[in-house]
Amino acid sequence: MTFASLGLIDPLLRALATLGYTEPTAVQQKAIPAVLAGRDLMAAAQTGTGKTAGFALPLLQRLTLEGAKVAANSVRALVLVPTRELAEQVHNSVREYAVNLPLSTYAVYGGVSINPQMMRLRRGVDVLVATPGRLLDLHRQNAIKFNAVQVLVLDEADRMLDLGFAEELRAVYAALPKRRQTLLFSATFSDNIRLLAGQMLNEPLSVEASPRNVAASTVKQWVVPVDKKRKADLFCHLLKAKRWKQVLVFAKTRNGVDQLVERLQAQGYAADGIHGDRPQATRQRALDQFKAGEVAILVATDVAARGLDIEDLPQVVNLDLPINPEDYIHRIGRTGRAGNTGEAVSLVCADEVEQLAAIERLTRITLKRVDEPGFVPDHRVPETNASGEVIKKPKKPKKPKAGGTKGALGRWTESADVPEPVKAVRKVPAFNTGPRKRKP
Ligand code: AMP
Repeated sequence: MTFASLGLIDPLLRALATLGYTEPTAVQQKAIPAVLAGRDLMAAAQTGTGKTAGFALPLLQRLTLEGAKVAANSVRALVLVPTRELAEQVHNSVREYAVNLPLSTYAVYGGVSINPQMMRLRRGVDVLVATPGRLLDLHRQNAIKFNAVQVLVLDEADRMLDLGFAEELRAVYAALPKRRQTLLFSATFSDNIRLLAGQMLNEPLSVEASPRNVAASTVKQWVVPVDKKRKADLFCHLLKAKRWKQVLVFAKTRNGVDQLVERLQAQGYAADGIHGDRPQATRQRALDQFKAGEVAILVATDVAARGLDIEDLPQVVNLDLPINPEDYIHRIGRTGRAGNTGEAVSLVCADEVEQLAAIERLTRITLKRVDEPGFVPDHRVPETNASGEVIKKPKKPKKPKAGGTKGALGRWTESADVPEPVKAVRKVPAFNTGPRKRKP
């Protein structure tokens, strides 16, 4: 199938040829004709499936063919995204696709001065990419009117809800014209997303670009069990042993990010970190340098997960598992993009067994466990399975100290250390649908 056969106009086909896109991806094949025909869309599409072009190409075509000129402080198509990084990324893609079209595009997001954004909006914008919080600020200050919005795109809708933007989405929704086309993209479909879709969409066409809630199948995934306090040691060991060249590492906390970056830099690695505490300019620079290959190891909290689009990223490492299992899919979506293969390794300690179980339930995969010699944990990570069950083995009576002892993973070891009893595991809710902090 070709892009031309989907009914796209020549200026778009020329832009795609320049970008080297020869064939539409699955989500593009389904979404483009439907959006061109004016339908609402509810698409289950992960990052890496080509979903951005799936909505941007037909949207740009519709705006071009209609030909109306955008009025001052108005916008004709609004694309809502969860993070600043994603706003930049989506805007860059839209700009590339629109290079031969007489349309204006712009991106607005928080964390940077609002004044230049207000100035630019005075002239009106055909396609505006925005994070919900900043968009509402601009709307409340009358820098932007919504009455000319014909198309609304909710990109990574699940992530917007996860980041606590439900209120902002409701407020934007209330201010939009009732007659408009709405396109909703989400990697995962929780009940809350379905509820949102029910309110915002009008008889949508459902498009599923990949099996629901299943991570990209081109990603090789496995788990290395390890004691919590040895995670950073294990990461440094794997980095050396496996000769990883370009690695994206996810850590739970800002502190965790900073500590690992400091340690790696002290060892002479080109490492940098991004998290919500760092100014936008610093985050963007770290991202750009990582994309350019100047930074080899980028350590990030989940905030970065959505905004990173790097071709051929071979390695993602979860130093910590995410609390929300859907974030696991988003994280490993950084690798194995557009048909490339990638690896996603999770360093998992006993405390994280409930999170591991929730991930396995969501992906319907029992992740392979691979012990790393020298790092086999004292605190055993209980067995789990793809039904999301934690299999708690009955406690064995203690063996006498002398001679070989049975190690924490149930194998006989040379060590004379008697394994410590397995700690009670903290219960973590399997699906966290409630609001979360905006800056993890
Ligand atoms: P997305 O899922 O929209 O983030 O896109 C993932 C990556 O695939 C981006 O780097 C796009 O530039 C690229 N891409 C999207 N569509 C195509 C296509 N039809 N052919 C080749 N690359 C594509």
